[in-house]
Amino acid sequence: KVDPRRLLVGGNWKSNGNVTFVREMINEVLNRMKFDEKKVDVVVAPIVIHIPSAKAMLNTNIMVCAQNINMMGNGAYTGEVSAEQIKDFGLQWVIIGHSERRKLFSENNEIVAKKVERAQDQGLNSIVCIGETYEEREEGLTKDILKAQLDAIKQSIRDWSKIVIAYEPVWAIGTGKTASSDMAAEVHDYIRKWVAQNCSELISQQTRIIYGGSVTEKNAESLITQKDIDGFLVGGASLKQTFAEIVDIVN
Ligand code: PGA
Repeated sequence: KVDPRRLLVGGNWKSNGNVTFVREMINEVLNRMKFDEKKVDVVVAPIVIHIPSAKAMLNTNIMVCAQNINMMGNGAYTGEVSAEQIKDFGLQWVIIGHSERRKLFSENNEIVAKKVERAQDQGLNSIVCIGETYEEREEGLTKDILKAQLDAIKQSIRDWSKIVIAYEPVWAIGTGKTASSDMAAEVHDYIRKWVAQNCSELISQQTRIIYGGSVTEKNAESLITQKDIDGFLVGGASLKQTFAEIVDIVN
């Protein structure tokens, strides 16, 4: 028998905000949230220079997440942060392979796989993002794209308990267009079946698959009630009070 999967809500702040935003968002929104920690994990991902202050200010029930790690480790890699350093600082979470990184910073499946390996080496929890573009969906390639993205990370994963898959259709990110709950449910079902076939039925039942792409307090309810949707990765709506409303709906 498998225990119910814990839910997860992540706030991906991307390259937004400043010192004042971090302080106000934490004191006025995040630290006032009430949720059942046994049921839902809440993580927020500030830019790297805001990580220390966020970690110091946040209530201990909210975890800080890095937005990226490098694929090499420590060394002569100007401007990069390693999984070792994230771990050493006391963080447990990292986002890997976000579509903005894939698209704007040329991270292909191979690079994403190396980053997942680095995170696994350090025992970090990874939120690994996958998803198709609008053109790929139009051409009927959604499942092929997801399969290729999943196949690529398979060899990097030794400990599936530290993996959360985020399905983030690229066309839904920051566009106000959300996948309908049926559309998302179908893809989440496909991802869970991939995990069952490529790992095991048990692992597929234990692995969290979250949705991201224009999640708001208005659509969160209809998405979270789908059986294979275990939470959200929230961008725009994580920068304001709406994040607390989403956590409330999930909780
Ligand atoms: P969005 O971003 O909620 O602003 O669409 C989601 C994400 O990129 O993780």
